Amino acid sequence: MAIYPKLIIEALTKVRYPGTGKNLVEAGMIDDDIRIEGNKVCFSLLFEKPNDPFIKSVIKAAETAILTYVDKETDIKGNISIVTRQQARPEPDRLLPQVKNIIAVSSGKGGVGKSTVAANLAVALAQSGYHVGLLDADIFGPSQPKMFQVEDVRPHMVEADGRELIEPAEKYGVKLLSIGFFVNKEDAVLWRGAMASNALKQLIADANWGELDYFLIDLPPGTSDIHLTMVQTLAVTGAIVVTTPQDVALADARKGVSMFMGDKINVPVLGLIENMAWFTPAELPENKYYIFGKDGGKRLAEELNVPLLGQIPIVQSIREGGDTGAPVALNPDSMTGAAFRTLAENIVAQIAYRNERQAPTERVHIAKK
Ligand code: ADP
Repeated sequence: MAIYPKLIIEALTKVRYPGTGKNLVEAGMIDDDIRIEGNKVCFSLLFEKPNDPFIKSVIKAAETAILTYVDKETDIKGNISIVTRQQARPEPDRLLPQVKNIIAVSSGKGGVGKSTVAANLAVALAQSGYHVGLLDADIFGPSQPKMFQVEDVRPHMVEADGRELIEPAEKYGVKLLSIGFFVNKEDAVLWRGAMASNALKQLIADANWGELDYFLIDLPPGTSDIHLTMVQTLAVTGAIVVTTPQDVALADARKGVSMFMGDKINVPVLGLIENMAWFTPAELPENKYYIFGKDGGKRLAEELNVPLLGQIPIVQSIREGGDTGAPVALNPDSMTGAAFRTLAENIVAQIAYRNERQAPTERVHIAKK
C-alpha cells in the first residue's frame, strides 16, 4: 500500500506526549521533514529539551502507531530523529530582513472584525504609498481571499534570489498570501497542529515578499500555537488587538493583551482597536447608536495603559466591502474609509514613536561591542 505524509500524521495523532497529555500533532512535535521512499519513512520529532525523559518512550510509541495504523511493513525502526526546540528555532530577525515592520493583528475572540480591520488597514497603508504585505494566518476561518476577491488565485512558484519562492497574490497594492489558498476545509482539523505552524513558516520564509514597509499578519482569534510560531519565526514589531465594546469581547481582549505582554510571547502591544464602536445609518451620518455599549474599548485601553488606536463604526458598507472583495479603505474620502485611514496613521505614528524611544538603547548596545 502507498504511504503518504497524511497517513503518518494521522497515525501520530494517536500518540500522546505524556508531558502535556496532548497528541504529538497537537503538541506541535512533528517537524516538517517527513520523507517517504517506498516503505521507508523518516522524520524528526521536536522536543523542548535534549534531556526530555519521554524521548525514548515517545519514539517507541510513534513507531508502533505507524506500524499499526499505516502499514505493518513500514520501515520505520531507527528512522525517527530528534530535534530540540532550541536548535530548531531560527534567530528572531533572520527571516524577512527586507521587511521593516511586522504587525500582528489579533483578537481575543472570533467575529469582532479582526480580518475586516486587517484588510482595511492593509489597503489604507498601501493607499498612503507604503509597500504592504498581508499574511492570512487565521486557520480557523481564512477570510482574506474573499475580502480581496482573490479566492480563485492559486499561487505559483517564481525564481527569486536564486531560490524557488511562492509568489503572493497582489491586489489593491497589497501582497497577499492566505493559508486558505492551500487548505481544504476537510483537512482543517489536522492543520491545527504542527502542520499549520509549518505551513505558515513556509508562507513567511519561502515566499517572494520582497521589500515591505509593513507586513501584517491576520492571526487566529484567541491564543494558539500559531501565535507562538509567529514570534519564534519573526521579529514582530508589535501587536494590535481588535475588540468590540461589548463586555464579553473586552474580557477576551484583556486576555489577548496579557498574552502578548507575557514572558512566552513578549511582543509589544501597539494598542487596541474598538470595532463596531457605534452604529451609524447611511442616511443619518451624524447619528450614533451604541448598540454594543459606549467606549468599552476606550476604557479598556485606559485600564491596561495601552493606546486606543481607533474606533471604527459599524456600517453596512464595511460588511458589504468585505463580502464583495472591495474594502471600504479603497475610498479614503468616505466616512468609513477615513476611519481606517486615521487608524493607519495612528499605527504608523505609534511605531515611529516606539522606534525613537528604542534608539538610545540600541546605541548603548552597539557602543558596548
Ligand atoms: P473576525 O476576523 O474577528 O472573525 P470578521 O472581520 O470576519 O471578524 O467580521 C465578522 C463579520 O462582521 C463580517 O461579516 C464583517 O463583514 C462584519 N464586520 C466587521 N466589522 C464591521 C464593521 N465595522 N461594520 C460592519 N460590519 C462589520
